[in-house]
Amino acid sequence: MIPFELHVPTSVDEALDLLERFGEDARPIAGGTALVLLMQQRLVRPEHLVSLGQVRELQGIEAGNGTLRIGALSPHRSIETSGVVRSGWPLLAETYRRVATVRIRNVATIGGGLAHADPNQDPPAALIALDARVGIAGKHGRRELPVEELFTGYYETCLEPGEIVTHVSISRPPRPIRYAYLKFLPRTADDYATVAVAVALDVDDGRCRDARIALNAAGPTPIRAHAAEDLLKGQALQPELLRSAAATVPAIVDPISDSRGSANYKRRMAEVFTRRALEQALA
Ligand SMILES: Cc1cc2nc3c(=O)[nH]c(=O)nc-3n(C[C@H](O)[C@H](O)[C@H](O)COP(=O)(O)OP(=O)(O)OC[C@H]3O[C@@H](n4cnc5c(N)ncnc54)[C@H](O)[C@@H]3O)c2cc1C
Repeated sequence: MIPFELHVPTSVDEALDLLERFGEDARPIAGGTALVLLMQQRLVRPEHLVSLGQVRELQGIEAGNGTLRIGALSPHRSIETSGVVRSGWPLLAETYRRVATVRIRNVATIGGGLAHADPNQDPPAALIALDARVGIAGKHGRRELPVEELFTGYYETCLEPGEIVTHVSISRPPRPIRYAYLKFLPRTADDYATVAVAVALDVDDGRCRDARIALNAAGPTPIRAHAAEDLLKGQALQPELLRSAAATVPAIVDPISDSRGSANYKRRMAEVFTRRALEQALA
């Protein structure tokens, strides 16, 4: 690994000052599970690492006024095990439980994962299904946008140079939702998904009031299945309708062929797992 200087700011402003001062030579670091690997492989060579570990504002999980706020530095494991998350946003706790191994989940953070933007990661589909928003801070101010709008390509986000993710916020759904996160893992239980689907359904008396469906590992970014959602909304959720909704998915996904399967295979599995996720959510 090439030498670097470590900076340990204690506030967001101090972190932003450092990132501005060192510009392209600096990178923020949270859990380090992705960045350190990239540095070891010399794919990135930052001369300055700005550790976010001591920035209090980026820590903690709290819920108030029907909104969940998760600090960017929250490790995956703390989201998986949080009583607040498990009772109010169980889809999220269940999704984080499915990430890799406990060792990884103890270290990797929600903010680091979003900024890393690997489309094979688990949390984005569930965050999109829950209509989560991501908080961002930069030298020119703060903004919040839907998680869905954060991702722009393979390992690419709309974060400007020097900006950091501060938090994720999610409103409590007006009524309990039916949900499922299905991760297709044909190789090992701690692998990245071959394809994965998150489903959140608002169902009243067998009829769908609202539906949000998103997929991971199915294209350069997480993909929202709008056509499938539109077919379900306002309808009685019969098995044939679930099949028809899932059948719209192959046309909107754009997977790559890799060691987890060919693009065609993943496209087929995206349909199969969408149908199964819908069935599981309603079971
Ligand atoms: C072996 C292995 C298996 C894994 N399997 C899975 C899996 O199956 N599913 C899954 O979802 N994840 C998995 N992960 C985790 C995932 O791929 C990332 O490594 C992790 O989410 C990154 O989080 P981090 O906090 O460690 O980020 P870091 O490694 O610290 O940073 C990652 C990137 O984000 C930037 N960054 C970090 N924090 C911020 C911030 N707050 N604001 C702006 N930029 C920031 C860094 O500069 C860097 O570019 C796995 C990781 C490993 C090592």
